Amino acid sequence: MPTETFEFQVEARQLLQLMIHSVYSNKDVFLRELVSNASDALDKLRLDALRDDSLDVDTSDLHIEIELDPDARTLTVRDNGIGMSYDEVGNLIGTIANSGTAAFLKELKEAQDAAGAEGLIGQFGVGFYSGFMVADEMTLVTRRAGEAAGTRWSSRGEGTYTLERVDDAPQGTAVTLHLKPADAENQLHDYTSTWKIKEIVKRYSDFITWPIRLVPQPGGDGEDTPEPETLNSMKALWARSRDEVSDDEYHELYKHVSHDWRDPLETIRLQAEGTFEYQALLFLPAHAPHDLFTRDFRRGLQLYVKRVLIMDDCEALLPPYLRFVKGVVDAQDLSLNVSREILQQDRHIRMIQRRLTKKVLSSVKEMKANDPDKYTAFWREFGAVLKEGLFGDPDNRDALLAVASFASTHSEDEATTLQQYVERMKDGQNDIYYMTGESRQSLENSPHMEAFRARGVEVLLLTDPVDEVWVDAVGEFEGKALRSVAKGEIDLDVQGDEKAEAEREKQSEAYAGLLGWLKEQLAEDVKDVRLSTRLTVSPACVVSDAHDLTPALENMYRAMGQEVPTTKRILELNAAHPLVESLNQAYQEREDRTELVETAELLHGLAVLAEGGQPKEPARFVKLVAERLERGLH
Ligand code: ADP
Repeated sequence: MPTETFEFQVEARQLLQLMIHSVYSNKDVFLRELVSNASDALDKLRLDALRDDSLDVDTSDLHIEIELDPDARTLTVRDNGIGMSYDEVGNLIGTIANSGTAAFLKELKEAQDAAGAEGLIGQFGVGFYSGFMVADEMTLVTRRAGEAAGTRWSSRGEGTYTLERVDDAPQGTAVTLHLKPADAENQLHDYTSTWKIKEIVKRYSDFITWPIRLVPQPGGDGEDTPEPETLNSMKALWARSRDEVSDDEYHELYKHVSHDWRDPLETIRLQAEGTFEYQALLFLPAHAPHDLFTRDFRRGLQLYVKRVLIMDDCEALLPPYLRFVKGVVDAQDLSLNVSREILQQDRHIRMIQRRLTKKVLSSVKEMKANDPDKYTAFWREFGAVLKEGLFGDPDNRDALLAVASFASTHSEDEATTLQQYVERMKDGQNDIYYMTGESRQSLENSPHMEAFRARGVEVLLLTDPVDEVWVDAVGEFEGKALRSVAKGEIDLDVQGDEKAEAEREKQSEAYAGLLGWLKEQLAEDVKDVRLSTRLTVSPACVVSDAHDLTPALENMYRAMGQEVPTTKRILELNAAHPLVESLNQAYQEREDRTELVETAELLHGLAVLAEGGQPKEPARFVKLVAERLERGLH
């Protein structure tokens, strides 16, 4: 079989350059990554053997081996796990499949300094490639379980790699690093040193459930151990008592299950006793992964039965809105051989899901009470996902509302809960007001906000796409309706005020003719024209009926491929605005209203623009405005 040479995918090449020039300061973690991959490969083999009787493999002594050769300056990590086929090696090792890679590299280009780049690597984790932090050449020999021939992969990390078929490869994978010389300045330790390797394994991989053995060196260091030494305790962290395990150990387990290189924000332990016993160790990550809102986001916890992994990403253990939570559940009495489909239905699994959900929410609540900064960081990263629970999980709606916080006009930088909003409500205010849109700035500048600002009425500023959905589903909080400032009629001060009501009445009469006429002229675009109570500065705005879809929701449905008819909106005029007053006067005085038709069109265009929308025919709109401006100069 000839040796074939391939080029790395562009992204992979860029990443490798980073690894080789090593901006990541803690180089020891390369071993954690290789051991983590080996452990995953052993898990996969065991699970495959369990499900597929025809797979003829020996699973009696699954283990990881580390072999050091100080003379040749090599370090080998070997496992007798699932292995990879020829094609898999090319696909898995030659490319970076991580769906966040594109985003990663974009940010990387923008990160000017080494510290920024280091943070980014930590954020994405680079698994296998991290070997190039300490090695100038890597070789991988692998044979997939059930296949006859093996594959040898080799690279110096410089743009190409070679693939070759080999006949005598043992089943599993061996990764050999040709180590760079130790170098104090670059924090490169001597990775052929036995004690250094022992220390690294103990620190990062102690909990790995498979034995990690150090292959004895022939005649090395005088301590002639004929038997390989097992370096890790293999003790499941969740089965050990709380005070026996350090935070660092928990964090390493998190990194193993999540492939995140950074510490988690919070560790949550749960021990359920009684007739159905289980332990859970859950982690809230510190940062939302880039693909959290994509369809192929891999969610789920590891499910163990009595210390034995039976499923790697069990989705049934948590509701979709907690999909960012990582961790492990170990149950006492579950069948070892259950399918995903059956698990979804399983009574015990549902029970666990309910309990874990409550536990996560109560932990967030505690965090909010005891460590506001941590809570703020958490909510910034995951608030948008948790809000999906407000319509997806009515049973926990109250618990979610208790921890949910929102930006508001009350404060520039501090978010508010609904409870706090209600406590600040003005006398006579019956509703909780909110506005949805793209950004805080666009909302604050929206004409819909004018009357609220003028009267000092607080408005929640909701800028996540999911906000449109949950406000409808939740509807009210403590008997106060959630109301959009851009929907329906708003009466901030007329209620119960007879004088104001009489005033309003009089105005309506004075404008009745104009409003009716405008409605006819703009019939294609709006379903009604009326006087506004929400404007103080702008001449006009468009609003939706209380139960209509907003333009943002319409767009969202369309983006999801659904057909949605465009809902006509309502044009509201500010009777106190000079432009509107003059328009009314002109309407009453003129016989020929041709020019006013144009004014009506412009007024509607302005209202649409003011809320961040686009006039129906932008080019025509611009032409009309330009003509008017020109006339003004004569
Ligand atoms: P990650 O582990 O984060 O997916 P890596 O670059 O470390 O990324 O590995 C890429 C893929 O290569 C793994 O997902 C796995 O499928 C495969 N792989 C890596 N190491 C091994 C191994 N020791 N045995 C079998 N497959 C492996």
